[in-house]
Amino acid sequence: MKKMTISKEISFSGTALQTGVKTRVTCKPAKEKDGIIFKRRDLKNSPELCLSDGLFSSGERRSTISLGAASIQTIEHFLAALWAMEIDNIMVEIDGAELPGLDGSAIEFIKLLRSAGVQKQNGEREFIKITEKEEVKDGDVSLSIFPDEFASVSYYIDYGIKSIERETFKIELNSRLFETEIASARTFCLKEEATALLKAGLGQGANFENTLVIDETGPVKTKLRFKNEPVRHKILDLVGDFYMLGKPIIGRIVARKSGHKTNSAMLKKIYQKYICNNN
Ligand SMILES: [Zn+2]
Repeated sequence: MKKMTISKEISFSGTALQTGVKTRVTCKPAKEKDGIIFKRRDLKNSPELCLSDGLFSSGERRSTISLGAASIQTIEHFLAALWAMEIDNIMVEIDGAELPGLDGSAIEFIKLLRSAGVQKQNGEREFIKITEKEEVKDGDVSLSIFPDEFASVSYYIDYGIKSIERETFKIELNSRLFETEIASARTFCLKEEATALLKAGLGQGANFENTLVIDETGPVKTKLRFKNEPVRHKILDLVGDFYMLGKPIIGRIVARKSGHKTNSAMLKKIYQKYICNNN
């Protein structure tokens, strides 16, 4: 498999889910050794944040990359789309601190990237092949990865609310299945959390279409795209978070109530062991 970038430049804009600010993004093709680079073009000297430098930090309810004072948040849905399109190299210029939320899932990003087209490059695609069990635990939350020939995920959720079934959803991680089964699952929160999140300055760009607000009976003012849309979105987030490593993972992922915090702890572990130690 060859590395890929996009064929031509594309731009889009939209309201950011958390900050509610409208931002504009321009994606440009990148060279085969560039990797995935974000550029804050609204800041002095337009700092570049390269995923290959392991810049992930755990944010509350979102994933952020930071380099000094420059950061970009809520990148996970867009990264999941890059993973699904098998894009290794791209320059993503943004004029603000958060990516647009679009419909709260990854499907609109996939459509945008597809409209740009993809281009094969000369170098071979690089993967992170998990060689021994890795695990992160925090109370009843856990995230493990086991060596395997393919990438797959098994995700268990339990929100203690009747309208979100306690369940385990398992799926092989490949582009085709991701696009039909996972990519259009939207972000969500419990209705009882919504007021506190808004007070904390989060969810300022959220509405009932791009965010499932779930009460005891189900989603408020919208219909589910899948019966179990929340667990599918958790998988979407996990795929996006893992692509912060800049290379796809090969291994069997088992997540139990994991979120951005445990995902981020796992990323640090894998980055140290499989990327830094190999250079
Ligand atoms: Zn999400």
